[in-house]
Amino acid sequence: MVLAQLGEGITAALSRMCRATVADDAALTTCLDDVSRALLRADVRFESVRAAIHNVKSTTNPSTLPPGVDRRRAVHKAIFAELCHMLDPGKLPFTPTKGNKPNVVMFVGLQGSGKTTTCAKHAAYHRRKGFAPALVCADTFRAGAFDQLKQNASKAKIPFYGSYTESDPVKIAMKGIDTFKNERCDLIIVDTSGRHRQEDALFEEMRQLSEATKPDLVIFVVDASIGQAAFDQALAFKKSAPVGAVIVTKMDGHAKGGGALSAVAATRSPVIFIGTGEHIPDLEPFDVKPFVSRLMGMGDLRGLVDKFNDVVPDDEDNDELVPDLTGDFTLKTMRQMFKSVQRVGPLGQVLSMIPGLSARFMEKGKEKEGQAKMKRYMTIMASMTRKELEFTNPSTLMTESRIVRVARGSGRPLRDVAEMLEEHKRIAKALSKLPLKKLANNNNS
Ligand code: GDP
Repeated sequence: MVLAQLGEGITAALSRMCRATVADDAALTTCLDDVSRALLRADVRFESVRAAIHNVKSTTNPSTLPPGVDRRRAVHKAIFAELCHMLDPGKLPFTPTKGNKPNVVMFVGLQGSGKTTTCAKHAAYHRRKGFAPALVCADTFRAGAFDQLKQNASKAKIPFYGSYTESDPVKIAMKGIDTFKNERCDLIIVDTSGRHRQEDALFEEMRQLSEATKPDLVIFVVDASIGQAAFDQALAFKKSAPVGAVIVTKMDGHAKGGGALSAVAATRSPVIFIGTGEHIPDLEPFDVKPFVSRLMGMGDLRGLVDKFNDVVPDDEDNDELVPDLTGDFTLKTMRQMFKSVQRVGPLGQVLSMIPGLSARFMEKGKEKEGQAKMKRYMTIMASMTRKELEFTNPSTLMTESRIVRVARGSGRPLRDVAEMLEEHKRIAKALSKLPLKKLANNNNS
């Protein structure tokens, strides 16, 4: 899961606060201390953490809260707002449009940041969205860059241009862009050279390339493991090229990802995607509100539906597979939920998007067990009647004789059926506590 530790720290702090008998100052201080610790561990700048905590304290002070407002709820809301503020650059990125005019996108970043891999991921992502992308390798500095991008391009079946013999990156970029404009590609992605350190030669090359190619968007790629140091790196790149957006890579393996994201936002550069693995599909669109929702254990409904639309072919009936979590949570909804998770996988990534589900099926290191459990429950549900599946409160309908019938039909012991019904009850309860209708609206707005 993205930023597992940070998310776990924040949700644990919030649920401790919710369980406290009274939401007094002591409970609030403990909660905010825990949230601060989680943020600092993720390498978020101390000053930002201090300011955020100060704001939460002052907006949730009982003397300033309107009468009748639940303090726990107010704290939840205030933390959500502060985390969003921390990650919001206050600027919208350029978004390429399909069809008419070709969009030229140039990638810049230090060597090893994941630039070449991300170019291919970016191309593949946009092809799934209906673009006709192409890749140009203008990295003449690193031996092997040409072969790496070419290999990635052919794996993802994306047209590729590069040269073994030409040493001038500007010439290669111009030739590649012209070639693909003629071939009516509408997203031309140019990979450029990196260096191990920020150095003049790299910045000069970037300047020349961006002046010659006049890209619609320059994307700066940064490795999450550098945490808050991403602030200085992003500023240095912004000085030399018109950086319009950022992709933070390696968010799958680094505890400092939160620091990197907030540091980039502080340079007023929008993060558009995060890299979550070494493979082509491991690229997730980044949006502040849904991301914070996930961090706070509230799920990311839009992310789930997006991920879904990525993998479910157009000719399939998506509605059958996308669970509607805003209506009654029946066994049928739970079955759809499991089906989607199995379909979209990998389990970890997807489960964290479903509110109330992650903790139940995704305990760290127990993903396989979670998957087996879902499979078992689906087998059981396959033996249930339509009425049983669509009943709002199935536990009241499921008499002993019905349970025996279902157990026999599915070949599972009685206790598995009872366990499945209990699980349904637990998830329904978790979901009922969330403002899902509002969340779905926010996510869709
Ligand atoms: P470049 O020098 O900036 O072009 O970097 P590369 O694209 O060659 O990537 C450097 C290493 O980082 C490679 O081993 C990639 O597989 C790996 N990498 C890139 N993005 C990610 C990511 O999001 N997660 C993980 N775990 N590894 C990544």
